[in-house]
Amino acid sequence: MRLGTAISVSVIAFAAFTAPAAAQSPCPGNPNALGLARTVEVDTTGGPGFGFEQYKAHDFLVLNEVVLTFDDGPWPGNTTAVLAALAHHCTKATFFPVGKHALWHPEILKQVAAGGHTIGGHTWSHPRLCAVHPDEARYELATSRDVLEQSLGRPVVHLAYPFGSVNATVRTLAAETGYSTACTTEIGVSASGEDLLMLRRVPITGHDSLMDFVCRVRTGLTVVQAAKALARRTQEMVASWV
Ligand SMILES: [Zn+2]
Repeated sequence: MRLGTAISVSVIAFAAFTAPAAAQSPCPGNPNALGLARTVEVDTTGGPGFGFEQYKAHDFLVLNEVVLTFDDGPWPGNTTAVLAALAHHCTKATFFPVGKHALWHPEILKQVAAGGHTIGGHTWSHPRLCAVHPDEARYELATSRDVLEQSLGRPVVHLAYPFGSVNATVRTLAAETGYSTACTTEIGVSASGEDLLMLRRVPITGHDSLMDFVCRVRTGLTVVQAAKALARRTQEMVASWV
């Protein structure tokens, strides 16, 4: 039996935020806060069931909504600074701490949980799962999950593959060790109907311009990358005419 099946009726939440206008409640002291649009329950009964609402499928994210994820940690300084920034914006995120590190800093992990954020697995010691023996990969996936669940007292069904290292074997191991969703490092915007254990993400760095940020959120690409892609498509279209 998949571990994920055993927690099928549990409420597993991804936190999604959207533009301030759609925020449900004001954020004290920050009129420009990102805010929290809604919390989506992920059905883990065995099917995709991603973003189901009253048994009627709908797109998981609508325009201007994103799910924030933070890999690694918990670390003094970094993680606590992220928590402070999220609190300042009255929004929530999904954290993927390394299992071993969570034992080193249990007090920070508890701060993350107390902040109402979702916590997923990121393996026990952060190896490249494709490069280790499948038995070791299984141990890494299962151990981190077990340790986090024991520490938090709540189900852990979300995963981020360290370094984005995933192949068919690793994906199967993730499912067998009870994960219902998993994030890769492949750049792109995930949509409904995609493989929940191969979700794409959009990296955001401190070097991105505001325009890059806007473009990345919509397309996964920077402005320059999007312009080049558009130029390529235009060239292909024109070439097809001659
Ligand atoms: Zn990592």
